[in-house]
Amino acid sequence: MTVDTLRLTAEDAMRLVERGEVSSRELWEAYRAAIDERDGELHCYLTLTGEPEGDGVPIALKDVIGTKGVETTAGSKILKGYVPVYDSTVAARVKEAGLPLLGKTNTDEFAMGSSTENSAFGPSHNPWDPTRVPGGSGGGSAAAVAAGLAPWALGSDTGGSIKQPAALCGIVGLRPTYGTVSRYGIVAFASSLDQVGPTTKTVRDCALLYRVIAGRDPMDSTTADAPPVDLPEAEDLKGVRVGVPRELNEAEGIEPGVREAVERAIELCRTLGAEVGETSLPRSVDYGLSCYYLIAPAEASSNLARYDGVRYGLRVTDGGYHGMVERTRDEGFGDEPKRRIMLGAYALSAGYYEAFYGQAQKVRTVIADEHRAAFESFDVLVSPTSPTVAFALGAKAQDPLAMYLSDLLTIPSCMAGLPGLNIPCGLSDGLPVGLQLVGPQFSENTLFRVGHALERALDFDYVPERLR
Ligand code: GLN
Repeated sequence: MTVDTLRLTAEDAMRLVERGEVSSRELWEAYRAAIDERDGELHCYLTLTGEPEGDGVPIALKDVIGTKGVETTAGSKILKGYVPVYDSTVAARVKEAGLPLLGKTNTDEFAMGSSTENSAFGPSHNPWDPTRVPGGSGGGSAAAVAAGLAPWALGSDTGGSIKQPAALCGIVGLRPTYGTVSRYGIVAFASSLDQVGPTTKTVRDCALLYRVIAGRDPMDSTTADAPPVDLPEAEDLKGVRVGVPRELNEAEGIEPGVREAVERAIELCRTLGAEVGETSLPRSVDYGLSCYYLIAPAEASSNLARYDGVRYGLRVTDGGYHGMVERTRDEGFGDEPKRRIMLGAYALSAGYYEAFYGQAQKVRTVIADEHRAAFESFDVLVSPTSPTVAFALGAKAQDPLAMYLSDLLTIPSCMAGLPGLNIPCGLSDGLPVGLQLVGPQFSENTLFRVGHALERALDFDYVPERLR
């Protein structure tokens, strides 16, 4: 039988394999054929793997996820040629579950960015319109799933890198509760924020993949046991209290088409039986982004200190040790990591530490408290995921501040350690609009339930129009 990789969900693929209608190998080959056909244009993959291992549904992994024996670059020249000698915990879990690896997907360098244009290996393109970005940093994984080049994929999210590309590519993405998925073996960006999570076509696929990767890991002391994952079934929202935070829905820069699609989805929550009410997160939007751009670069400057030309990837020799380190870092890092190393090192420097990093940590607590207060009255908070639909390649590349604003609405809940789910909720100018659902810590099952019911009712067609 022929496999329609554009349409097939991972759940359906799994069923085909179980029933023996398609072998795991045939599935893998179907995706590889789709990659051969479309990845030249979209550039979702940085590395393709050889022989498939496992008897399940294949998967793609963002290139910040360490994979034994398979080059892992994090989108950076400084890691070009780095082949990990061990698997990250998530790569190992995916392997244990029998999911063969298709390849490693493109990412902004060290996951710093919102468009994949910061990848040292060139940007990915949006399958809905290849002149536009797929979002970032996990644009490779999102575009691969949307374009039928992988049934599902894993990404990583520090301030929006799973949710925002999922929104721009019209698919589902989950940033799990901080600590539910191991970071062991992941190329670190900002350790107090980084989380690995699934990028999929449907909410049920998302729950299935989350079930594979979630859980305590003795190799990562920040992990906790996640509650058992329920596969969502319910098609109504009876008894669910949906909060609409004013600031996240009325923020400056939200495109009218995005606002309209999100408002329709909120109306639909009512129709499905939810109790919908307005709420407020007064300081999260005003301060979230500035606070993130102190904490994330500060942690990045410390995490990126390890790339010294001695231990990993690139080495540019120049006489002595110091010259070698300097030249390796100068030639190995692109502009964005350099900008963040400088900003972060400054924010952490003696005399400024309290004023910047210390103060940002306090604001972070305020943001977490605001969310906690909102969850006293609501089970889930809704807003747009991204203020805009996919923008043109090059439109924001020279303007870091405009690029940073892409994550205005995803960052607050990330700062608070909360889980967030993107589901597509309609089109604006022929491009997907994403709805963000945020819940309290460990509320993934609620997000799946609400996301699934909405997904059913919205009936969004995740196959990009130009590929139908
Ligand atoms: N775009 C944000 C940044 O550049 C978030 C990236 C991420 O979540 N990894 O930091």
